[in-house]
Amino acid sequence: MYDAVIVGAGLVGLATAAALSERGARVLLLYHNRRGEASPAAAGMLAPSVETHAGAARRFALAARDRYPAYVAALAERTGLEVPLNRLGVLELALTDAELDAPPFRDPPPGAERLGAADLLALEPALAHARGALFHAADGAVNNLVLLRALKTLVGRDSRVTAVADAAVAIARAGDGAAVETAAGERHRTGAVVVAAGAWVGGLGGLPRPIPVEPVRGQMLSLAGSPLRHVTYGAGGYAVPRGDGRTIVGSTMERVAFDAGTTEAGLAQVRATGGAICPALADRRMLNGWSGLRPVTPDFLPILGRDPDFPALVYACGHSRNGVLLAPLTGDVVADIVLGRPPAHDVSPFRIERFAA
Ligand SMILES: Cc1cc2nc3c(=O)[nH]c(=O)nc-3n(C[C@H](O)[C@H](O)[C@H](O)COP(=O)(O)OP(=O)(O)OC[C@H]3O[C@@H](n4cnc5c(N)ncnc54)[C@H](O)[C@@H]3O)c2cc1C
Repeated sequence: MYDAVIVGAGLVGLATAAALSERGARVLLLYHNRRGEASPAAAGMLAPSVETHAGAARRFALAARDRYPAYVAALAERTGLEVPLNRLGVLELALTDAELDAPPFRDPPPGAERLGAADLLALEPALAHARGALFHAADGAVNNLVLLRALKTLVGRDSRVTAVADAAVAIARAGDGAAVETAAGERHRTGAVVVAAGAWVGGLGGLPRPIPVEPVRGQMLSLAGSPLRHVTYGAGGYAVPRGDGRTIVGSTMERVAFDAGTTEAGLAQVRATGGAICPALADRRMLNGWSGLRPVTPDFLPILGRDPDFPALVYACGHSRNGVLLAPLTGDVVADIVLGRPPAHDVSPFRIERFAA
């Protein structure tokens, strides 16, 4: 019998599998490839400072960002794969005088530095059109595609993790533990089931309550060239230099159920956003367009921890816009919860009980 069965092998499921194995647990990792999975579609920003959450949720997000340097160093040591990490800081642009006089510029969050136009120009010569910016020096970005590859390599070589391409269909109580029924007709008994199925979590049978996670589509594109060095927010979107001569621009927020396609209008909107953030991006050649489905909760915070009525069921889902940022630390705390250890971080803002039944 496995110590845990994890449903879902996006960044959250993979990071949880790696953390459980590191703690000596035996894990079955079930996955079922879906069009629109969020982890490969994301921009990879590590930008907790740009979010407006407060208290323990904000502290968790900052700790998640600060977990990254040691996390990718350990991955490099164990897999030989260097995951690119951009730690130059994140810029939040004010493109008009009115924006300069409104939040967040009027009353910047702790740690943010207000840059005037001249300072901004010195930092990013391609942003001469902006009126100013907030600079979040400790934020940045990770290459989420290389991170995914590294985590897959790590768990693929791990004798304590068995990864199987088989969709979980339902979860049931089994004594003090649980059982996962799969599309292939298997029934896996286990001490704990971790549900990390991204936007698809609500489709699992046997859950004791509705899970308020809905798919929210984001369309993205990549452009040839990299006029920016910093991740830059503005005009309702963002531009992320990948460090390989490409810039990723995003994104739309669309409630279109599980439609993971792109539209001409959506990509045109994203393109316009790129040009508004940085005029030098306006006429760059588009290399690729894609979309992904964010697993979004009503308060944009993840759902982490045991179900109060079914303790063998552990949630690791609903990471909304910040699942890349939060995945490594989610893996740590969820592994501790599964093994009955107190997590090293306050996860009380993420309890499922915060949502009314
Ligand atoms: C366009 C876009 C841009 C984003 N940008 C950022 C960003 O810059 N920074 C950031 O921090 N976050 C970003 N996000 C959010 C982030 O990508 C997600 O929060 C995160 O990837 C969620 O990871 P996940 O593992 O929960 O889900 P996913 O990556 O969607 O993975 C879900 C997994 O569940 C599996 N699965 C589904 N159903 C079943 C089943 N029945 N049985 C077994 N397996 C199943 C799938 O196979 C898959 O492995 C972005 C998201 C999008 C879409």
